[in-house]
Amino acid sequence: MAKYAVLKSFYASEKWINFRLFMINERMKRDKKIICEHCSKEIERPKDITIHHIEELTPENVHDVMISLNPKNVMLVHHECHNKIHNRFGHKPARNVYIVFGAPMAGKKTYVKENMSRGDIVVDMDNLYSAVSFLPYYDKPDNLFNNVINIHNALIDNIKTRYGKWNNAWVIGGYTDKYKREKLADDLGAEIIFCDVSRDECIRRLELDQERMYRKDEWLKYINKWFDEYVA
Ligand SMILES: [Zn+2]
Repeated sequence: MAKYAVLKSFYASEKWINFRLFMINERMKRDKKIICEHCSKEIERPKDITIHHIEELTPENVHDVMISLNPKNVMLVHHECHNKIHNRFGHKPARNVYIVFGAPMAGKKTYVKENMSRGDIVVDMDNLYSAVSFLPYYDKPDNLFNNVINIHNALIDNIKTRYGKWNNAWVIGGYTDKYKREKLADDLGAEIIFCDVSRDECIRRLELDQERMYRKDEWLKYINKWFDEYVA
C-alpha cells in the first residue's frame, strides 16, 4: 500500500487543487454547465465532478506534469462514471482505511469527498456533532463533547475490528501529535494522508468562508491551536 501514499499526497497538494479548479473553469460551458465526458450528461452537483486521468497515474509517473497536470490527459466525469471507467478495467473496491489529517480549513473533507465512493464509511467529529445536535457542522457546543467522542470511538472500534460491510474507511481529524497519529494508523491498519496547507492559507480560506462567517474567532482559535500543537 505504501507506494500509493505518493498518489494520495499528490491529490492533496495545492498544485492539484489549483489544476482541478482551472480545469473546471476551462471546461465550463457558457451556460455554466459542466458536461460529463463519459456519459455526456450534465454534472449537476459541483462535488460530483471527478477528474479522470486517461493515462492512469502511478507512483512512477505522478511527478511528470505532462501526465498528472496535463489538460489533454484528463476528462471531467461524474463520480459514478469514474467508478464505471475503472471497474471496466477490473478494479475491485478495496477495503482500505485512511486517516486524513491536517489543520482546520486544510481541505480534509473536500479531499475525502473527492476520493471516496458510495458505501465507504467516514468518521468525522464535526459531522457527528451535527448528527446529534441538529446544528450546522461548524457549530460544536462543548457540553456535547463526551457523547460525540463516544460515538466516534465506537466507530473507530468498528473500523479496527473490520466490523460491518463498508468498503473503504476514512477517518478525518486534526491529529497534531505524531505519536498518537502513527499509533492510530497502526491500530487501524491505516494509511496516513496529510492535507498540507500553511497557516496563512487556512486563515485566508476562513476569511472567505461564508458558512463560518459568524464563528470566525472560534475557528481562528482552532486553526492557531492546530499549528501550535502540530508535530511533523
Ligand atoms: Zn457521467
